[in-house]
Amino acid sequence: MGSDSGFIKRNWVLILCMLSLGFEVKGQSHTHIHESFHMGSPFAITVIHEDKDKAWEGIKAAEREIERIEALISSWKESSQTSAINRAAGKEAVEVDAELFQLISRAQKVSQLSSGAFDISYASMDRIWKFDGSMTELPSDEAISNSVARINYKNILLNKEKQTVFLKVKGMKIGFGAIGKGYAANRAKKILQEMGIESGMVNAGGDLIAWGKEENGQAWKIAVADPSKEKQVLAWLEVDNKAVVTSGDYERYVILDGKRYAHIIDPRSGWPVQGLKSVSIICPDAEIADALATTVFVLGKEKGLELVEKLRGIECIIITDENEIVTSSHLNLSHE
Ligand code: AMP
Ligand code: MG
Repeated sequence: MGSDSGFIKRNWVLILCMLSLGFEVKGQSHTHIHESFHMGSPFAITVIHEDKDKAWEGIKAAEREIERIEALISSWKESSQTSAINRAAGKEAVEVDAELFQLISRAQKVSQLSSGAFDISYASMDRIWKFDGSMTELPSDEAISNSVARINYKNILLNKEKQTVFLKVKGMKIGFGAIGKGYAANRAKKILQEMGIESGMVNAGGDLIAWGKEENGQAWKIAVADPSKEKQVLAWLEVDNKAVVTSGDYERYVILDGKRYAHIIDPRSGWPVQGLKSVSIICPDAEIADALATTVFVLGKEKGLELVEKLRGIECIIITDENEIVTSSHLNLSHE
């Protein structure tokens, strides 16, 4: 596993915190930042409000919401409904909360849209690819073909009336690594808005959503990191009620026989996807941005861009292994 794993995303957190901390230093700050760790990633909640108590009340409520979501969707927690679905694979349907049922339904729509490039049953490969430093050699072709056979979103059977989920094939698993943080960011934003917080930002492990304005009254400025140059900003995005979510090959990966294998799996082959360094999606919804960043990463430059151009209100920045930067047609980037 790379020692710089996730550094770009952390870097975003740092840059954004630095921007905001600038106000704190002046002593009159209305910018309140809380950093924590969820879903295996650093989170940061930023709230702009003149009443400090109200700001922190909001931050705490948002934090509780993120914890609640993690307990529901985590496939690592034995007690979660997701784990119950996975345990019952090939055996029986499991009744779940409407919230989880709907999240799975939305994930299925992204699978349909991408002809299976995005597939939450990628998790059926779990035992084959490990990005925790424990892998020392490439898996055998046989091991890969045996487990890739279990990946297929069409075998996630949803029963709307009974609100049940059934994984048809024994050994099949689902996981929300590619969509869960975006969903959590959306929900945290919603909670804060309901509590009267008109400006803020939720950074869920680099999956960002910002609304309102910065304390200085200007639009939020989000740094898009350059994956090929350590700690450098590729461009700044000025966002107005938007999410900016990046999928990258630098986040979690393993190097075997001198080659880098990153954590995004092509569900058709069972092999980690090659070809791109990062994909950033910019759109109003963090969950959609999260799911699409992963999807475009799997689809690759041409097909990924083709998909984004078909979708209204969604923009992207794709950086290839050769450091080519491709953006969707309506994106305005400012370089500094
Ligand atoms: P992200 O950083 O949002 O692109 O999510 C990457 C994570 O999504 C990985 O660490 C896996 O947990 C999961 N994942 C990997 N490949 C896929 C895929 N093809 N479809 C859906 N989820 C995936
Ligand atoms: Mg994603």
